[in-house]
Parts: sequence; structure tokens; C-alpha cells
Amino acid sequence: MKYLLVKVVNIHLNGSIYDVIIIGAGMGGLGAGIYLQTKNSNLKTVILEQHTQPGGYVTGFKRKGFYFDGGAEGIMGMDDSGSLRLALGELGFEHKFLREDPLEHYYYEDKEFSLYTTREALLKEIEIQYPDQKEGFERFLKRCKSIIQEQQNGKPVPEQNKPYIEFIKEFVTSEDIIDAFNLFCLWFGATPSETPAIHIAHIIIGVLEEGVFYPKGGMQAFSDHLADFYVQKGGKIVYKSMVRKIIMNKGRTVGVKLLDGITFEGKFIISNADVKKTILQYVGKQYFPEEYWQSIDELRQSVTGIMLFLGVDVDLSKYPSHFQIGCDLNVVEKVNNNEFTLDKLAIRIPSNIDPSLKSQKGDSLLAFIFQPYNWENYWRAGPNLVRGDEYNSYKEELTDKLITKIESVIPRLREHIIVKELATPLTFERYVQVTDGAWFGPFSFQELPSFKTPIDNLFLVGSSIKGSGVPSALRSGLEVGKYLLEKHLS
Ligand SMILES: Cc1cc2nc3c(=O)[nH]c(=O)nc-3n(C[C@H](O)[C@H](O)[C@H](O)COP(=O)(O)OP(=O)(O)OC[C@H]3O[C@@H](n4cnc5c(N)ncnc54)[C@H](O)[C@@H]3O)c2cc1C
Repeated sequence: MKYLLVKVVNIHLNGSIYDVIIIGAGMGGLGAGIYLQTKNSNLKTVILEQHTQPGGYVTGFKRKGFYFDGGAEGIMGMDDSGSLRLALGELGFEHKFLREDPLEHYYYEDKEFSLYTTREALLKEIEIQYPDQKEGFERFLKRCKSIIQEQQNGKPVPEQNKPYIEFIKEFVTSEDIIDAFNLFCLWFGATPSETPAIHIAHIIIGVLEEGVFYPKGGMQAFSDHLADFYVQKGGKIVYKSMVRKIIMNKGRTVGVKLLDGITFEGKFIISNADVKKTILQYVGKQYFPEEYWQSIDELRQSVTGIMLFLGVDVDLSKYPSHFQIGCDLNVVEKVNNNEFTLDKLAIRIPSNIDPSLKSQKGDSLLAFIFQPYNWENYWRAGPNLVRGDEYNSYKEELTDKLITKIESVIPRLREHIIVKELATPLTFERYVQVTDGAWFGPFSFQELPSFKTPIDNLFLVGSSIKGSGVPSALRSGLEVGKYLLEKHLS
């Protein structure tokens, strides 16, 4: 990897002031940096990233030769004519992607079902597995499509205020199918009754028309590639740089201060960091109108969860790359009610999409499920989040439970384990410095802040302003980069 690992000693780099300081090398920060540097290579921009690698939640790591993705697992809008791919292509950035099809495979009590990403294959699967649902499901798809058209033509949409669960039940009665398509509510950590039908219509048609893709080489390879591209265009990334303060002077930002006391000066600041921390801690509420900081303070965070990483000395290529065990429409509701649940587990085997990720020793597998942030007194770490013996032994206990669940599909898996690690909500919280370890930033279906803040040279990017998902975070970065360039830096 050839990121510019600038040793953080001589911070002003010849005493100069940066045009733009970007806090965080997640999708939002990288998108903004890439746009700015590509469109004007004379700009001096820097990304300050607290971690040792780029990507934020678009991440991956290796243990004993096994590769694991640690967050996002599929990206929409990356087919050859996909809008995001074209937007990146226009800047000269190309990455190879592999289509995830089926997008998900379900192991239900007495049936298996594959959620294919082409209309024909999907309808065929429904006809085979649930023949009595085919006609209703075809009407459902037709209605999804016409909702989008009506919306585009400015016509009133009767489903305007309808949730997913009521919408789909007008067409389909099988709980399995309702559960399978609830996937698109889970992508936002939302219950089926709080996810707008219109939103689901867009996602389903988007998935069927554009597909969902996996970056060749894994999620970390994609983030590394974006970071390399930014550096090639003249940008700088300084890792291990935890921003703790945004420095203010006469109502404007003038720079940032890192955890170790080092300061960077900049004319504009774009924050890809957690929005609550950016506004309430790094700047401080005294610099904002009360109404604004209160609206940030009151933002509801999305759900978090646990993730298990297993490296095994056995070939798992006969299993689907993405699958789920169990049917449970109430998983998010349970988590919102502070209940622990293992009723539905999602499994990923990255080398079954990209065989180049296979380890010489066997395969890697990851399993995850939403869970409350504060379960069992912060996962037995206590309110001070001390990851001691109790925390570690609880992780062992949970790992065992998860493996037992996975063994309902992959028998005797525990006999083959070489690598075993469990991430809790505390791990996610620390990894990207996000409030409550939220997987999707602030909950998507609420009024999110604008990219502009009341401070005229401070901007926000990422899922904090656009909602969950790699495409929205990346796109927000490109859009803020464009805005800044056109309005302030041209
Ligand atoms: C388990 C999981 C599965 C997911 N699956 C998918 C999926 O399949 N498809 C999809 O589209 N989306 C998925 N998502 C959501 C998606 O990954 C995120 O919405 C998106 O990546 C968020 O990008 P971001 O730029 O907003 O923020 P982040 O990824 O949170 O990046 C923020 C960056 O800022 C850095 N940072 C934070 N604070 C500071 C600071 N003070 N100083 C310096 N640096 C700082 C962090 O280290 C990080 O690098 C998933 C998320 C999770 C957790």
C-alpha cells in the first residue's frame, strides 16, 4: 500500500495553510477529496484520518492469511451504466466490480429461497418455491415501477405515507417473501413499519435494473484504491490523526487540533466524522444557534450490532456467498426494545464472490446481526467501557452461540476454526468514532442535516447527511466537493 503516511511532526508542511481540511477518510471524505483534487490539482487539501487505513465502514482486514470485510458488503450503482460508477469514471476513477447474484439466499424452516437480481430469475424462483405468490409478486413489482414513474411525473402517489409492510401485504401473503424483501428495510436498520413504501419501490427497482456489486479484491481494496487515487491527484492523507477540536475564530473555522495537540490550518473544513461529535464536541454548541445544535443533539442514531469473523480450514465454496438463517420480521424492533436476538443471522463468504480472496488454508466467513448498543451493561464492559476479562469471556460465550446457529447450515464448522474474532457495538464505536457504534450513522428516515452548517466554511459529508449506504456517502462527498469548488474555490 502506498498511501502517503506523512509523519505528523511538521504539521504546516512548509508553513502553508490548506485550502480544505477533510476530517475522515470514509466514503464521504474520500469522495470530497477526489472531486476537489481531480478538478483542480493546484488545491492543497488534506484528509486527517484517525485510523491507519482509509474507508471507514468500507473496510476489510486480514488475520493469519484470511481476508474479512468488516462493514459494507455490496454497493449499488456500480454497473457499467450505474450513475455512481459514471460519476467516478468522469473523474478518471475505475475499479472492477463483480455482480452479487443472488443478492441473498434464505434458509427458512422448510424451504430455501434465492433473491436474484434480475426480474426473470427472481420470478422463476418465486414460481418454483412459492407458486401461489407469483401473480401477486408480479403485480407488486409492476406497482413499484409505476410508483417511481408517477413520482417522476409529479403525480400524487397513494402509497406516499404507507410503510413497506402494509404495501407488500396488498400483493403477497407468504411470510418468507415478506421477510426476504424486508432486506431492504434492514439495509437502513429500519423496521418494516417505519420504512416508507416509496423508498422500497426505488430500492427494489434499482436492484433489479442496476444490480448490487462487490469490489474486486474486497471492500478494503476499493477504499485503498480511492485513497491512492486521491493521493495521485495531489491530495495528502495523514493517518493516525484523531481530530479533537475544530478551531474557531470570529465565528469561522480556521483549523483543527488533533488529539496529540498538533494543529492544521485550513480555509474550509469538511467533516466526514460523526455529525453529533462534529457539531457538539469538535466545534461546540456555543458557536451555533440553539435550534440547530438541538436538532443535531436530538438525531436518532441507527442500529448497531455484532459481527463474527471465522477463518476455517475447510472449503465453503458450495455455500452461497450471502445467506441468512431464520425468518424474523421483528429483528430491528427487538433491538429497539433493547432485546438480544439471534433469530436471524446473516452470513458472508467473500471468496464465493471473488475467488482471489480465498486463503491457502481455507475460507473466511463472517456472520452478523443487529443488537442493542447497551446490552448486558455494555457487553459486560461497564459504563466506562473497560474491555477486561468479563467482556472477553462474554465475547467467547456469544461466539459459541453464533457458531451453533451457523452449524444449522454448515455442520461441524467449529472443528475447523483457525481464526475466531467477535466485534461488538463497542468495536464499531471505536473503529469509526461513531456515536453508539451506529452502523448507518443517524437513522435514515428522519430529517437529516444539510451539508451546509450555520458556520459558512464548515461542511458535512457522509451518511450523516444522506442516510445509510456507500453510494449516498460517496455521492455526498462528490457533491460537496463540487459545491465548494464552484462557489468558493474557483
Ligand atoms: C456492518 C455494516 C454493513 C453495511 N453494509 C452495507 C452495504 O452492504 N452496502 C452499503 O451501501 N452500505 C452498507 N453499510 C453502510 C455504509 O458502509 C455506510 O453508510 C458508509 O460507508 C458510511 O460512510 P461515511 O463516509 O458516512 O462514514 P464512515 O464510514 O463512518 O467514515 C468516517 C471516517 O471518518 C473517520 N473519523 C471519524 N472521526 C474522526 C476524527 N475525529 N478524526 C479523524 N478521523 C475521524 C473514521 O475513522 C472513518 O474513516 C454497512 C455498514 C455496516 C457497519
